[in-house]
Amino acid sequence: MSKKSYVVGFPRIGEQRELKKVLESFWANNCSFDEVEKVAGDLKKRHWSYQKKAGIGYISSNDFSFYDNVLDTAVMLNAIPKRFKDLKNEELYFSMARGSKDCVAMEMTKWFNTNYHYIVPELSLEDEYKLNASKILNEYQEAKEQGIKTKINLIGPLTFLALSKRVDRKDTFALLNKILPIYEELLKEIALLDEVVTVQIDEPVFAKDNEVKVLSLIKPTYDRLSSVSNNLKIIVTTYFEHSNEATKILIHTPIWGVGLDFLYGKENLESLELIEKSDKKLIAGIVDGRNIWKNNIQNSLELLALISKDIKKENIIISSSCSLLHTPFTLKYEVTMDENIKTWLSYAVEKLDEVNILTKVFFEGVNSLNNKENKIYEENIQANHSRKISALIHDETVQNRVHEFSKLQREGKYKDRIKLQKEILKYKDLAITTIGSFPQTPEVRIARKDYKNNEISKNDYETQMKRYIDDCISFQEECGIEVLVHGEPERNDMVEYFGEQLKGYGFSKNGWVQSYGSRCVKPPFIYGDISRPKAMTVDWITYAQSKTDKIMKGMLTGPVTILNWSFVRDDKPRDEVSKQIAIALSDEINDLQNAGIKIIQVDEAAFKEGYPLRREKIKDYENWAVRDFKIAVSSSKKQTQIHTHMCYSEFNDIIKTIENMDADVISIETARSGNELLKIFKEVGYKQEVGPGIYDIHSPRVPSIEEMVNQIKLLLEVLPKNQLWINPDCGLKTRKWEETKLSLQNMVEAVNYIRKENR
Ligand code: GLN
Ligand code: ZN
Repeated sequence: MSKKSYVVGFPRIGEQRELKKVLESFWANNCSFDEVEKVAGDLKKRHWSYQKKAGIGYISSNDFSFYDNVLDTAVMLNAIPKRFKDLKNEELYFSMARGSKDCVAMEMTKWFNTNYHYIVPELSLEDEYKLNASKILNEYQEAKEQGIKTKINLIGPLTFLALSKRVDRKDTFALLNKILPIYEELLKEIALLDEVVTVQIDEPVFAKDNEVKVLSLIKPTYDRLSSVSNNLKIIVTTYFEHSNEATKILIHTPIWGVGLDFLYGKENLESLELIEKSDKKLIAGIVDGRNIWKNNIQNSLELLALISKDIKKENIIISSSCSLLHTPFTLKYEVTMDENIKTWLSYAVEKLDEVNILTKVFFEGVNSLNNKENKIYEENIQANHSRKISALIHDETVQNRVHEFSKLQREGKYKDRIKLQKEILKYKDLAITTIGSFPQTPEVRIARKDYKNNEISKNDYETQMKRYIDDCISFQEECGIEVLVHGEPERNDMVEYFGEQLKGYGFSKNGWVQSYGSRCVKPPFIYGDISRPKAMTVDWITYAQSKTDKIMKGMLTGPVTILNWSFVRDDKPRDEVSKQIAIALSDEINDLQNAGIKIIQVDEAAFKEGYPLRREKIKDYENWAVRDFKIAVSSSKKQTQIHTHMCYSEFNDIIKTIENMDADVISIETARSGNELLKIFKEVGYKQEVGPGIYDIHSPRVPSIEEMVNQIKLLLEVLPKNQLWINPDCGLKTRKWEETKLSLQNMVEAVNYIRKENR
């Protein structure tokens, strides 16, 4: 195909996670860096060839990375934090990413609203920026040797600065004039590579709400970058939302094209007329780069028809909506998946065909497809039809129930509920509990795996799990924990565990998506209406409760977290899917409660992750997210205490929303911030009870009694003791028993000390 089809970027981890494996082997000193480079070289070749074979016109280089592209950009600019200055090459690079004996790693955080994490650059006024272009230039040459003239992907200067932090905490944009000359120099070198080189500059930060000050930097920046050389075609690409404010400005710069996401930023349609007037190319993001559903080619053609009302066909290039980095690699290895469901899916490799076929049909008509393409095209139409009518997806009983569901809230006001609960549950001030999971030992993991593979009987499996639960309870009793948990040994993952038991959920064998560095996750996917064939946790929790006279907390994952950590069907609005999950959970809570469970924790670890990038969309998200948490707990009686847990410490922006969720107790992650971040709870007059994590479970370190006494004292400066619970700051499953026992014993001692002192 001529230069009309485009892919923003391609996954790099490898279809069998080859990059992960070789990196981890290198880190464990089991192979040399040469070996890593060899694997990387082979992967790049293979990935380019996949794209070439599929007929993609614009294929990227520099979308590969040994760890992360933002980190690569910092290295390209020589923005190396001081503490790493003695290191070189790969040792430097991986130390920045992962830390080393003497240097703590750089921070890592989420890439916009995806589950990909980038390394946060640390900038300082003392930095001496200078260009390290070799990776970028070499990759271009590597591809060229394979007969592919790539477009070169870069992270734009404004996004780079927006995502960085300054060691003196001042404004990063003030450094723009220091880094722009490096970008110019880089573009100069790129321009020498060929007669014409296309450069894709990613500026996803334009898809957020930006202050005028930031917007005002766009024109001067892109005027400068586009005037480096006439050999360059510069495309500025955004994704995950619309970027109308930036587009308005960009069209007045000499860039060659803009890349826009028309799936997650439909509002981009409003910019079409302006783009056409400026005669820029439009790289139209049409094939979903962050979900796993087959493109609906008919619908996409309609969207393209709409776009071509404003934009001349010759100015349109058809693209993925964002880098395919956020999708799994290929369906080829999904050999055990239900054949029907599999036909509805499309991973990165399959999406390449979609981009190609859409391009051909749009520009040249169906008759231009060759046999193979035609087959894929026909299958596409058929699969979309079968998906639309399949009984696997559409469950009328669920739909009717969701439609009629009217119990939007539990009974009783907090004030009355808590009084009743305190009478019945009789817990002390500063009640001691944990967040749910206890250390997952190799034995537990093996038992789960063997059971899954039918290598041990149900009976053997349950006996082992129960033994774990017994031990876990004995430990908690001896230690003096007051509200107990069963320890979650039966759960591999807090979402997958529930997904496996809900109808409408699917699982892949090889659907790995890079999360950070060498780490990948395999999110389950929601394909159909969700229901709960039978109780999911009641047997385990009631077993645990039968083993102790203390209160055993029931443990569930909340609807919003289940949703945010799954691939979600694209044929229904998210809030409807979320409501279905919430209703299924409300049945579970009802069952737990009827089985005598008095406290139930509904974890919303990923509540914050679903927040939209645009302010104007936040209200809507908060509305349904809170609605569905409340629906999930709506079946709880007044005397049943509802806890929730969130893996965050920053609540300043969302405290009112959290309050509206109306949980009786919330446990949060404040251990690393003293009591600073807790103050917001006091400021807004938050009434419900709070369990601020008093030690950090993310490290094996055992905190001393004294340290935790001090931490509790800090908490007591902010909230009264009858509003506070004492707990670690998250689940303990990644820790070892040894350190867990010592830490929890110290935590209990610390509470005892404070209680005595306060008597
Ligand atoms: N109950 C879960 C656990 O303890 C919560 C985990 C989480 O918030 N990430 O493992
Ligand atoms: Zn947590």
